[in-house]
Amino acid sequence: MNEAALHGERIDAPAHFLTAWKRAVADANAPIHFGKDDGDDLIAKGRSLVGIYTPPPGIIGVEQPFEVELAPDLPIVQGRIDLVRAEGETLILADIKTAAARTLTDTHAVEAQLALYDLAYPASRHEVIVAAKLKNPVITVQPITPWPIATLVRHYREVHHGMASGVRYGVRGWQCEGCSFASRCRKEG
Ligand code: SF4
Repeated sequence: MNEAALHGERIDAPAHFLTAWKRAVADANAPIHFGKDDGDDLIAKGRSLVGIYTPPPGIIGVEQPFEVELAPDLPIVQGRIDLVRAEGETLILADIKTAAARTLTDTHAVEAQLALYDLAYPASRHEVIVAAKLKNPVITVQPITPWPIATLVRHYREVHHGMASGVRYGVRGWQCEGCSFASRCRKEG
């Protein structure tokens, strides 16, 4: 939808969602763990969520690739920015998240993400567009203050040092629910 908006087009998002879902299921070629809901419930939720989304105005970049060097002794970071947009002279960077509530309560990860993006494309405003997977889905634009650069560099240095030293670290998320190592992960903290 954002890509279409970038090119001045409108699309039937729920229909595209269904097509993309069917393609992903066919391409998976493996059993799919749907979690608590069944596939049809998830299709209905996904279609209603994309159905209420309206791309924000002034989109000038979608999935914008970037590369930044945080310090000469650390590997280059590569990534993509969900949305770059402009309102007049104001450059705005946005990340898009789905969530179980209208707004994110824990914003550390997205503060870090936007701090990284800001190094590549210095902007005046930063936000996360939260798509809430509620019975009646809601889209909320939540302002975010990116981490200070020193915090970002220190965190990246610590993570890189841990990885280079072979330290195991968990990346908690939706995938933990179906993970066969979850009990060990919880026990080890
Ligand atoms: S529970 Fe599984 S998926 Fe989640 S952090 Fe631990 S190892 Fe990773």
